[in-house]
Amino acid sequence: MARSETDSWDLASSVGATATMVAAARARATAEPDAIIDDPYAADLVRAVGVEFFTRLVNGDIEIPDDEAAAGIRLITDTMAVRTRFFDDFFIAAGDAGVRQAVILASGLDTRPYRLHWPAGTVVYEIDQPDVIAFKTQSMDALGARPSAQRRTVAIDLREDWPSALTAAGFDPAAPSAWSAEGLLMYLPPDAQDRLFDEITALSVSGSRLATEYHGGDFGQSIGERAKEMVGQWGAQGFDIDLSELFYKGERNDVVDYLSARGWQVHSRSRRDVFADYGRQFPERANPLQHSVSITAIRD
Ligand code: SAM
Repeated sequence: MARSETDSWDLASSVGATATMVAAARARATAEPDAIIDDPYAADLVRAVGVEFFTRLVNGDIEIPDDEAAAGIRLITDTMAVRTRFFDDFFIAAGDAGVRQAVILASGLDTRPYRLHWPAGTVVYEIDQPDVIAFKTQSMDALGARPSAQRRTVAIDLREDWPSALTAAGFDPAAPSAWSAEGLLMYLPPDAQDRLFDEITALSVSGSRLATEYHGGDFGQSIGERAKEMVGQWGAQGFDIDLSELFYKGERNDVVDYLSARGWQVHSRSRRDVFADYGRQFPERANPLQHSVSITAIRD
C-alpha cells in the first residue's frame, strides 16, 4: 500500500513487515557456521509474527528456485549480518568510551537491549511505532528474555514529537548519548530525514555519538527496482510485500555533509569496505548498496 503522512503498521504489514524481513535475515545469519553476529531471539520473533513466507525462511523450508534467487537470499543475509555487526560494534565502542545512554531509533525486532553486554548503569531507549514496540516487548517476555541494560520503550511515530516523548521517558539531554538510525532513513521523506538529524543534534551534548547509513540520493529508486525483482522471484512462494512502494524516492541530503555542517565529526566507510572488514564478499552485480556508506559520528 502506498505511504501516507500518518500511516501506521504492525510487524506483519507495510513498513513493519520490513522489520520482520530483516529479523529473518539475522536469524539465517546467526545460524551460519562462520556467523559474525549472534541474535538468539531473531528466529523465534519471526515465528511469533507469523508471516508465512518469513517463518518458512527461518525454518529452512523455502525452495530456492534458481541461482538468481539464491543470490538474493545471500545478499540480504550478508547485508544484515554486516549491518548488525557494524551497529553492535558502534554501541560497544560507545560504552567503552563511557556513554551510558543509548537510543535505538526504529528499533523493530532488534534485540540489542537483550543481547549486548552493556556497561552497568546503561539505559537503552527504543523508539518505534506503538504496535511494533508492544509486540516485541510481549514476545520477548514470552520467550523469557531479560534485558541486559535498563530498557525503556518510547512508542511513537518518528514523524511526531518524539523528542518530548523520549525526554518524558527519562532521556537526559545533558548527558552524552549514542544514537542509531539503522534501516530507517529510506522510510522517511527527505525533509523528515533532515528533521530527524536536527532533533538528534539538539538532544546531543559534546561527546555524543551517532551511527547510520546513507545510500546515495537515488536509493529509493534503485532499491525499489531490486525489491521488485525479489517479489518476482519469491512471489510463487508467498512473498507478496511490495517493498518498492514503502521507500520514499527523490533526492535527499547527503547525510555526511548534513551532519558535518551541524557540528559532528563524521567518519564514513563504503559498504564494500565494511563487508571486507567482517570477512564477507560484497556482490558487485545488481547490488543496490553499491553507493552505500556506513557512518559513525561524534558531536564536537
Ligand atoms: N532497526 C531495525 C533493524 O535493523 O532490525 C528495524 C529496521 S526495519 C527495516 C524499519 C523499522 O523502521 C520498522 O521497525 C518500522 O516500524 C520503523 N519505522 C519506519 N518509519 C517509522 C516512523 N515514521 N516511526 C517509527 N518507526 C518507524
